[in-house]
Amino acid sequence: MKSLEGRVAVVTGAGSGIGEGIASVLAGEGATVAVVDLDLASATAVADRLAADRHEAGAYQADVVDGDAVRRVAGAVAERYGRIDILAANAGIYPVKTLDEMSDADWDLVMNVNVKGALHAIQACAPRMRANHYGRIVLTSSITGPITGQPGLSHYAASKAAMLGLTRSAALEYVGDGITVNAVQPGNVRTAGVTAFPPEFMETMVREIPIGRLAEPEEIGWVVRFFASEEAAYITGQSLVIDGGQVLPEGSTDPGGA
Ligand code: NAD
Repeated sequence: MKSLEGRVAVVTGAGSGIGEGIASVLAGEGATVAVVDLDLASATAVADRLAADRHEAGAYQADVVDGDAVRRVAGAVAERYGRIDILAANAGIYPVKTLDEMSDADWDLVMNVNVKGALHAIQACAPRMRANHYGRIVLTSSITGPITGQPGLSHYAASKAAMLGLTRSAALEYVGDGITVNAVQPGNVRTAGVTAFPPEFMETMVREIPIGRLAEPEEIGWVVRFFASEEAAYITGQSLVIDGGQVLPEGSTDPGGA
């Protein structure tokens, strides 16, 4: 696979977790990376770490819910580096609320950050890609929603399923512009948000994953890197599950347990 040398990538929610893993992989493969996050301090820490490893990276603050802020960041990135080739629309939140507890505000916040945030990032970056007739957009969806359910996460599950609909329709809108739009669907990844769950919950979670461990953030990053490659030009509107086999068992992994 060709290196990403000369490519400019925007990664939202890159101040920690999966976004940081995506940023690290893309930078390691030669891309210049704009590390975008709500929290400027964590974005700066990631960009500084990448720069210390001799990668080209810059930190940018934006709330993805604010379309103007995201457009300003895309403008600043394009001005500084001359182009935008890759977007990883990854910023997302997963607060736990049961349906009985959930207010409209709880619902709206998750939908706004996860779905509208991805929309804003696409709208801000796609015109820059279209100008060069080249672009690779990768959304971070999940297994939760499109494939599985989780009590307390119905707003989140709905948002992640919506992101796949967004992926497919955006893919068709940009298909003539040299821009592909795909999605990754991680299972459970070793990020601060996940490891903060109670230890008993974590143990059950790991027991249900046939590979026997959580994913590392960079393991999601490598799939984004594939979708972001020149060689993936013929793949658009698709998604790939990265879950250690979590969604496979038909109720039991014991050969005699059917
Ligand atoms: P995380 O909390 O470690 O990182 C998310 C980052 O996004 C943080 O740095 C945060 O500051 C930033 N962010 C939050 N709201 C933002 C906003 N409004 N604007 C800009 N930045 C914002 O979370 P994570 O576990 O790395 O999750 C990243 C993405 O991966 C999310 O979309 C999540 O839904 C998805 N995902 C995570 C898992 C998992 O197991 N961790 C599994 C499937 C999908």
